[in-house]
Amino acid sequence: MNPYRTPLVAGNWKLNGSLAANAALLAEIVKGAPSFGRAQAAVCVPFPYLAQVQAALAATPIAWGAQNVSDQASGAFTGEVSCDMLREFGCRYVIVGHSERRAIYGEGDGAVAAKAKAAIAAGLCPIVCVGETLAERESGVTADVVRRQLAAVIDAVGAQGIAKSVIAYEPVWAIGTGKTATPDQAQEVHALIRTQVADADAGVARGVQVLYGGSVKAGNARDLFAQSDIDGGLIGGASLVAADFLAICAAAS
Ligand code: PEP
Repeated sequence: MNPYRTPLVAGNWKLNGSLAANAALLAEIVKGAPSFGRAQAAVCVPFPYLAQVQAALAATPIAWGAQNVSDQASGAFTGEVSCDMLREFGCRYVIVGHSERRAIYGEGDGAVAAKAKAAIAAGLCPIVCVGETLAERESGVTADVVRRQLAAVIDAVGAQGIAKSVIAYEPVWAIGTGKTATPDQAQEVHALIRTQVADADAGVARGVQVLYGGSVKAGNARDLFAQSDIDGGLIGGASLVAADFLAICAAAS
């Protein structure tokens, strides 16, 4: 954690929730928000729940967003949701390039970059996910993979676009598996990410929030967030349990 950058903890609810369960979870999170200190918190929810989170969080310091978006503005793109639609529901954030989108839905670096570009143009803050698979880590190409994924976005949006984005390092082998990168493993990649951004613009690199994601829990958050280039977390499973999410936000404060 670096005092120059505001910590951010963003929950990724994935394909989970119901109106009743969300209402209970949001009420607990709002009640616990005073313990976040200087940390920002956000929840990224399934599209049908955007109106619900907007109503529940509008008068609170907690931000919200979506988990995916189209790079297209409008037209014959059945099933897609545009950036302007997310803006209408008060979204600040949208996750792009989550490894589940890359692996299950075949989103490549170009598609992720196009989504990030569209999000920035619409005034949203994309949370750009990058990260290697277990096979890639074991074959020693982690840095190459992360560099390639991030380069596609930097090429598309430029350093000034990165200044309006959040980057999330999420090693695929740590997502939903209970295996967390050690603080040192995570810091090593975060430092590479910041160096890559610095190659485009040193000032932007100093300011951009780089989150860690992958089995962050109440018990490991503090050690991860203590690393100098880790500015908070992107939280999957633990963001669905109010006490766990609150503890992780407090660890970032
Ligand atoms: C995620 O979905 O982005 C994530 C990090 O999941 P989990 O915290 O469950 O590993």
